[in-house]
Amino acid sequence: MWSNLLDYNALFQQQVERLHNENRYRYFVELERKTGAHPHAVWHAEGGPRDVIIWCSNDYLGMGQHENSITAMAAAVQQQGTGAGGTRNISGTSHAIAELEAELASLHEKERALVFTSGYVANEASISALTAMLDNPVLLSDSMNHASIISGIRHGRGEKAIFRHNDLDHLEKLLQELPEERHKIIIFESVYSMDGDISPIGEIAALARKYNALTYLDEVHAVGMYGEEGGGVAQRDGVADQIDVIQGTLGKAFGTMGGYIAATDAIVDSIRGYGSGFIFTTAMPPALACGALASVRYLRQSSEERAAQQRQAARLKQRLADWNLPAMPSVTHIVPVMVGDAAKCSEISWTLLQDHGLYIQPINYPTVPKGTERLRITPGPCHDDAMIDHLVASLAEVFDKVRPPSYVPRSGNKATG
Ligand SMILES: *Cc1c(COP(=O)(O)O)cnc(C)c1O
Repeated sequence: MWSNLLDYNALFQQQVERLHNENRYRYFVELERKTGAHPHAVWHAEGGPRDVIIWCSNDYLGMGQHENSITAMAAAVQQQGTGAGGTRNISGTSHAIAELEAELASLHEKERALVFTSGYVANEASISALTAMLDNPVLLSDSMNHASIISGIRHGRGEKAIFRHNDLDHLEKLLQELPEERHKIIIFESVYSMDGDISPIGEIAALARKYNALTYLDEVHAVGMYGEEGGGVAQRDGVADQIDVIQGTLGKAFGTMGGYIAATDAIVDSIRGYGSGFIFTTAMPPALACGALASVRYLRQSSEERAAQQRQAARLKQRLADWNLPAMPSVTHIVPVMVGDAAKCSEISWTLLQDHGLYIQPINYPTVPKGTERLRITPGPCHDDAMIDHLVASLAEVFDKVRPPSYVPRSGNKATG
């Protein structure tokens, strides 16, 4: 018999209640995506299945349903089976993974690439390994960096210095204060996924050269979507050669799953040997590597999807402005609409789903700061003009009803045309 003195379960229940009280409890929307139907999906609601349109997918270009990837992945499962069979070191290095790494190195014009089981693991394992290999380094990290980067910094137990988001003056001030001979890594992202803004990559790289720091760039929300071949914003800006480590994911625009880094042979080879999160886990299955490879290859030679995504994002921003809805300024395919209150954000999201068949997950604290709760909309090439018009009309109706603090209703707020 155990005693009731330590009621662990009650303790966890209290934690769940706390999440409810703070409007941070996460409700999952159970979807069934259908090949060829994106952005439509079946929502398995309590009352039964319903058709909805997804407006918040990170399968940004619909590549998760692309014929090339499906064919490659299905064929590979038939020919090579389902699993990898081990870690990379012990029987898990497949020809497919090696081919994928060669393609990714070429995409980013780097000597070598290394694939991980996710983008999260790529960041955590690479950043902690780099920290462990350098001599008491300082990690200069943008204040808006992703949780996986923060976890990598914590794991590596390196000293960190946080610079204000995209603030070159602040970054330079921090660099100036450090001894010249001290090892430094500047860690930042290209596209920040909650605001839809872009970092000054070339300028940050110039500071890194001036103060002799390494640069580590997370291009997770840009690979496949920016640059002539989908090599990211660094490729678009012509500065990829000035970045030491480029990190990306295969799970967003490439529509499959997995993460990677691309860098010099020495950097990649050392992380391969020291990155715990790389070494001690079963490798990506060959079929997944084949699916990802087909997607990367396709997007290197087709810009149609990228162009359509930018066109539809611009159209959505214009329509939101026409209807006087509080879209946040964004220079990317990510279109955040400010709500400014956690409960209202959840209410708006739920009403859109329930009454309009539109799925947009609310983004609340701790993903974004309190008071800046928002809807994060990700239009893509599969969202047509009629869908955009329907979305904006629905948003206007729901904002009028819920009246979040960000919304100033104007008389005669009805767009024409
Ligand atoms: C999603 C994300 C990751 C993690 O990538 P996964 O492949 O989903 O694990 C890393 N960095 C940023 C900025 C992200 O948004």
